[in-house]
Amino acid sequence: MRCSSWRPSACARSSNGPTCRAVAGPWQSADCSTTSCDMPWLLLVSGSWSRPDQVLTPGAGRGNTQPPRPNSVQMGGSMKIGDAVVDPLVDGEMVVPADAFYPGQTAADWRGSEQFLEPVFGEAMHLYTLGGFVIRHGDRVIVVDTGVGVHATFPFVGGGFRSAFAATGLRRDEVTDVVFTHLHVDHIGWTSVDGKAFFPNAVHRVDRRDFDLYCAPDFTFNEVEAAYCTPETDAPGVRLGPVMDRIELFEGDDELLPGLSSIEASGHTPGETVLRLTSAGESGLFLGDTVHTAPELYDENARGQWNFCFHHDEAKALESLERIRRIVIDEGLPVAGAHFPGLQWGRVTGSAGSRTWERLD
Ligand SMILES: [Zn+2]
Repeated sequence: MRCSSWRPSACARSSNGPTCRAVAGPWQSADCSTTSCDMPWLLLVSGSWSRPDQVLTPGAGRGNTQPPRPNSVQMGGSMKIGDAVVDPLVDGEMVVPADAFYPGQTAADWRGSEQFLEPVFGEAMHLYTLGGFVIRHGDRVIVVDTGVGVHATFPFVGGGFRSAFAATGLRRDEVTDVVFTHLHVDHIGWTSVDGKAFFPNAVHRVDRRDFDLYCAPDFTFNEVEAAYCTPETDAPGVRLGPVMDRIELFEGDDELLPGLSSIEASGHTPGETVLRLTSAGESGLFLGDTVHTAPELYDENARGQWNFCFHHDEAKALESLERIRRIVIDEGLPVAGAHFPGLQWGRVTGSAGSRTWERLD
């Protein structure tokens, strides 16, 4: 199934079964019949399933491998990069079939990477954690991305960011900088709440190309994006509205702050950014949405099985990923993806053909 075949309203014709449109959104396959949905897990997860005669069949129609052991996913912890301390700020999560965003996958592709899957209703699902990070480095307190927010749209689930931040012992007015890896709705959600800046004293930094696209006065979400959010409140121009007077733009490779630089990673969005944190001779990378799961970094991807399907410019995204992979592997750097389960840190170890993921935090 290709993403392009998914249509928000494809299954809305049902007369005696559940109508998929309201909850299935872009997940619904155009191939579904009028009385059944090939993504019943989604209806179950949403709590909207009302057909007892149609139950979830584990693995049916999916490319999943064996369900992982219970509670596969572990929370990330504090990470030290030189003198800098980085803490995860978990806002929520999204769980989807393991192959939902990887159209080229076969059943075996997750074998050996089951730690990134989570059993949900007996099915091995891919868990995408949502949120951000806070870096304490010298006199700076830097937040990287602000989660999906309080009023997330299913299948996004958010709301934990405020508590996660409070657990660090920091005050919101102590945050000096917010840096966005890009401006998708699941990365900007807590930038403002009820029309007020969440980090009132912070300079907000973002690549100019994302700002120009997503904050343009005439910006509108495409059909798929619109199904994932509430456009009137989630549009970047609205969400960033209360901080417009304290936005600083950069582009591609740049020195943003002492010890924090941006690396060109365009493709997922026009201004997608990888951040390099350097302190006391050590470095680590925040990968943003350049990758969505660690196997994209360590699997050789010979068949395109790890080609994520929701990129603004797929060819450019794959080009950027390859460049970032080389940095990660050649330098052996600790890295954190924006959606790795629990916002964990790790690094790629081993040599070509036998690379794997080593958890670090
Ligand atoms: Zn994104």
